[in-house]
Formats: sequence, C-alpha cells, structure tokens
Amino acid sequence: MKSSALMRTAAAMLACSAASAVHIASAISAASAAPAASAAPAAPAAPAASAASAAPTASAAPPAWVNAPVSVAGISFVQSAGGIDEYRLDASGLQILVKPDHSAPVVSFNVTYHVGSRNEVTGTTGSTHLLEHLMFKGSTHFNDPSGNSIKQYLGARGATFNATTSYDRTNYYATLGSGDLEGYVAIEADRMRNLWLHDADKQAEMTVVRNEYERGKNDPNTFLREEVQAAAFMAYPYHHPTIGWKSDIEKASVGQLREFYDTFYWPNNCTVTFVGDVAPAAALALVMKYYGAISRSPHPIPEVTTEEPQQTGARRVTVNRPGQLGSVEIAYKVPGALAADMPALDVLGEVLSTGKNSRLYRALVDASLALRVAAGVQAMRAAGLFEATAVLSPGAAHETVEKTILAEIDKIKTGGVSADEVNQVIHQYHAAEAYGRDGTAAVTSRLNEWISVGDWTQYIRYGDAVARVTPADVQRVARQYLTIEQGTTGWFVPDPSK
Ligand SMILES: [Zn+2]
Repeated sequence: MKSSALMRTAAAMLACSAASAVHIASAISAASAAPAASAAPAAPAAPAASAASAAPTASAAPPAWVNAPVSVAGISFVQSAGGIDEYRLDASGLQILVKPDHSAPVVSFNVTYHVGSRNEVTGTTGSTHLLEHLMFKGSTHFNDPSGNSIKQYLGARGATFNATTSYDRTNYYATLGSGDLEGYVAIEADRMRNLWLHDADKQAEMTVVRNEYERGKNDPNTFLREEVQAAAFMAYPYHHPTIGWKSDIEKASVGQLREFYDTFYWPNNCTVTFVGDVAPAAALALVMKYYGAISRSPHPIPEVTTEEPQQTGARRVTVNRPGQLGSVEIAYKVPGALAADMPALDVLGEVLSTGKNSRLYRALVDASLALRVAAGVQAMRAAGLFEATAVLSPGAAHETVEKTILAEIDKIKTGGVSADEVNQVIHQYHAAEAYGRDGTAAVTSRLNEWISVGDWTQYIRYGDAVARVTPADVQRVARQYLTIEQGTTGWFVPDPSK
C-alpha cells in the first residue's frame, strides 16, 4: 500500500544511514586536494559564525520577490513554476532551485548528482552507493580532525541529514535552522570536488555497506524484485541492483571510486535545491560564494548509450530462499517517468491495488489467497517496470495467485474501469500529495525524485495530468503495456531447508 505519491521510487532506493552514528569518519591526514575548487570556503572552521552576517537569511523578507526573479551577477534565471524558481550558474552550469517558505525558521538544502547505478558497468556496480558513503568521511576544509566535519557540524545543530542512492541519481540533504544554512552549503560545495578518499575509510565503511547488502538479501521481496529487474532488463544498466553485485562491491578500489567521483561529481552534473526559510537572493549569494569558483567538468559527462533490446517473449524467474511466505511479482516494461502515459499507468496501479475496494485486494486478499497486494509503476528516467505483486497467504498456491493477477488485468483490458474507480484514485492522489508535501524536507524529497528523472516542473504539473486521466486511458495503457510478451514473472518460493 503506498502512502504518498503514486509513482514508486522508494523500493529501488537505498536510503543510507548517514544521519545515525554509523558513518564515523576516521581521523586521517589530509590527502592532496582535488583541482580547481576553492579557496571559497575560506573560513572553514567557523561556517556557522559567518552565517548571520554573510547570509541575509531573510526571516523578515517581504513577499514581493516571490514572483520576481532575482538578479545576481553570474547566475541566470531560467524559469518559474508553482512558486519554485530555477536558475543556472553561468560559468559551471550548476542548476539551482529555490522555493521560499517562511512558515518556520527552517530550511532544507538538497544536492542531487545526476549519477546513479545506471551509470555503472559490470566491475563497477555499487560504486555510486559506496561513494555516497565515503562522501561523509571528510573533505579538504571540513573533516573530523578540523572539528568541522559534516557530521560534527550538522549533529551539533540538531539538523536531520542523510543521503540516498538510486538508479538515476545520488542525493545529499539536510534540514536545519535557517541560520545554520551557510555552513552546510559550504560543506556540500567543498565535498563536490575536494573529497577525501582514503582506503582506510573505505575499509571501515565496508562493514556498514555489507550490512546494508545483507539486509536487502534477507528481505524476500527485495531479493525477488532484484531478480525480476535483472531478468526484465538484459542490456540497460537498470539490470544491476543499486547496491551492486557482491563481488564488485568487495573488489571496488579507492582508485576506482576516485575515477567515478572525478567523472561525475561536477557542478554541470548537479542540481542544488533550497526549500524553506531563505530568500532567493540569499540562496543565490550562497551558491555564488561557495560554488562560484568550482569549474565545470573538463570532459563531457558520459551518457548511457546502451538501449534495451525489444523483449521477444515472456520471462520467468524463481527464487528459492529461506523465508516464511511466498510471493508473486509480475512486471511489465513501461516507458520512463516523463512519458505521457505515466499518469494513466499510475492510476491503473492504484485501481488494481490501493484500498479494500481495489481489484487485486478483492480478488486475492478477500479470497484469502494473499496477505498483501501492491501494483504500480516505477519512476525511472529511461524506462521502468509496472509491477503487480502479492504476498501469499499460508497454503496459497503460486500458480493460483499468478492466474488471479493475470485474470484481473485481463478484466481491465476487456471491460475497462469505471469512472468511480478513477475518480476515487484521483481523490486519493491529491490527498496523499498534500500529506506528502508537508514540510520542507518532504517537499525537497518529492522534488528530488522529479529532478532525478529530468524535469523538476513535473512536481508542479503531474497532479493536473493525473486529474485528466479517464477510464478509457486506463484501459488503453493496460492493453498497450501489460502484455505478457513484455512481462517478467517472478516467484519467491520459501525453502525451509536453506
Ligand atoms: Zn548505504
């Protein structure tokens, strides 16, 4: 059951535990600094002290600027939508989003790098995620020995912070008092190009990463999902789980991670987002102060050129692992998150699985064949999967559950869905969105997902697109995409002997 946005991203996302005490940076002497970046954070030891004077954080700012783009030398206004202004740093291409909200003296700052596990190849899988962990181990001007590491700075100020890695992106974020913002921006800018990457830190962090890996493998649904995903995508790098293949994780060298960092961690591959108690002029001044001296990458950011070949028939995977309950997943290939059919596919997923009146709930849970059902579409940049899953009731047969899911999908293809069903889903969507956008951290998180798939303005527009979905649209996309020739069916069969 999804509680927030329709499109599902969380399932494939590794939300790491940087905010807890697991990222304990070792005290290592400074490595050679990466190029270019900066004397900008000139007073790194005291980022907080400068905040009050340097950043006019505008708690008393008049509302006049809300719809008026700010003019800052070296930064160009790009567009506005829904109270969010987009700018671009001219010299480096850094994308900047600002959404002021002065309802509380709190601000969220989010840094999205457009690099995810889709940028990995065999041999480097898991690098995006490993690097994300090492981003908390210190940079030239902000580190434990100096007493101003990210963990020390944000921890001392009661900020919440973390990072996540997914197929299409890696993001770092914190929510903190608006008076503490400048210090955090300085740290983020420093670790964009001046990261320490020490083998000892990597070795220490491997325990955390291994634990994360094992947690995923011990969860039957995660395991099955990864197998289905790997079968559905043969060539496109969505084939690889974001956590990586175990042997790649174990063998990743610091040199390899350095190469990955130097390839992808540049301002022209990055979006920074301010949501909360900061005036656009102040936000842009901070960007200019700390990111202004960082050059764009000396090379083009590599594109993923691989295309997934047309699937030529139904695929199946079976997983026999220790576990209590069986499950069935049927996944169909669908386009990327920005495709015009995405809202209708989203509504289709909800009609199938959300609420006690949904199709799969009635056919499977009410019939005691399943304990839980879910259906929905992944929000991915290049292509995604529409997944229908059921966790079997004890004693239920996989074959029966699979046939029941297929029969319910067939009913929609032949008989369509009712206006009532669609209207109810649209109503639920808007209620969930309102709830899911409560607070600067929630807004930032939602925005980040749209930034990741390539168009942040969908954060504003997608709700209207959902509201326009008709029963005919839902039937059409079911017929078009939910064909077994494009499907991959997975069974998780618990094996008590293992
Ligand atoms: Zn992690």
